[in-house]
Amino acid sequence: MRPFAYQRATDPSSAVQALAAAAPANDPLTVAAIQPLAGGTTLVDLMKLDVMRPSTLVDINPLAGMWSAIDAGGGNLRLGALARMSDVAANPDVQRNYPVVADSLKLAASPQLRNMATLGGNVLQRTRCTYFRDVSFSNCNKRIPGSGCAALDGANRSHAVLGTSEQCIATYPGDFAQALIALDAAVEITGKSGVRSLPFDQLHKQPGNSPQIETILAPGELISAFRIPGQWPRSVYLKARDRQSYEFALASAAVALDVQDGIVRDARVALGGVATVPWRAREAEALLKGRKFDENLASRAAEAAFAGGKPRRHNAFKIALGQRVVARALHQAAAMEV
Ligand code: FAD
Ligand code: SF4
Repeated sequence: MRPFAYQRATDPSSAVQALAAAAPANDPLTVAAIQPLAGGTTLVDLMKLDVMRPSTLVDINPLAGMWSAIDAGGGNLRLGALARMSDVAANPDVQRNYPVVADSLKLAASPQLRNMATLGGNVLQRTRCTYFRDVSFSNCNKRIPGSGCAALDGANRSHAVLGTSEQCIATYPGDFAQALIALDAAVEITGKSGVRSLPFDQLHKQPGNSPQIETILAPGELISAFRIPGQWPRSVYLKARDRQSYEFALASAAVALDVQDGIVRDARVALGGVATVPWRAREAEALLKGRKFDENLASRAAEAAFAGGKPRRHNAFKIALGQRVVARALHQAAAMEV
């Protein structure tokens, strides 16, 4: 690992000042010369692999007193960005009224990682594309802009079928972000000019021609919280993966339903493991709303979710798998007793 300087933030404003001082990095591998450090389970990993090369880490854990609360009062949910994955997954209010959130966290990584990892770091984790994580490969537009994409004609079994470009087909790997996007969450961002809030579905950027730019965060900006409006007790996170534990999704679905007298009043569907960003399947939602829920409707919605899917040589199976995951998640949500 390369040498780096370590600073401890004392309050949000000093953290933001320290981070914003970062000059634009000349080395594309650096991404940003000064990086916030939360649980470190992504960042330190990528530093050890030499994929990320920050010169300074600003440890934001001292802000946990302000930024780790779990507040389910008033019929809404607010989660501090420094809350640990395991604490949120185990919270009784979250389990009761937002099972899709609790399960998305519980099914991620390992107990040890969930004890360490924060929500803010989780949504900003980077792709598991092998060509990105192994610096011995020289063709990776995300790591070295303009160098090409080894995955297009390479081993692309784990790659995305939705939201891809000819520059990058890397999958967004996280689970929790799908729950956030399905439930219309907002993200609170603290920067030099204060706190701003925006819909969570605007945080991540599809690769387009600039796969190295993954979010809309400006230098120095920190995620301080997530807010979910309303309650969704009838919600499910389902994850298909190569092994039952400690594995990233091949395909996953975050589903929330409001069903009255057998009719779907509201439906939310988000997909993981199959897209370059946390993916909201609005075509599927439109098909479900206002209709009587049955097996046929669930299958049609699942098909609609992947209508724009673009498979590559090794990952065509993700479309059929993803459709089954969506259909099964819809069934499970519809059958829940709430
Ligand atoms: P860090 O590593 O500290 O930070 C990650 C990035 O976010 C860094 O660039 C950092 O600068 C930035 N950052 C952190 N906090 C903030 C903030 N508040 N504002 C702005 N920037 C910030 N995840 C899943 O979802 N599902 C899985 O199945 C899964 N499996 C895993 C298996 C393994 C073996 C490993 C190592 C990880 C796995 N993960 C999985 C990823 C893991 O959940 C993430 O590494 C973790 O959530 C990141 O959180 P962190 O607090 O450690 O972030
Ligand atoms: Fe790099 Fe993206 Fe191609 Fe993977 S898919 S090699 S991350 S450009």
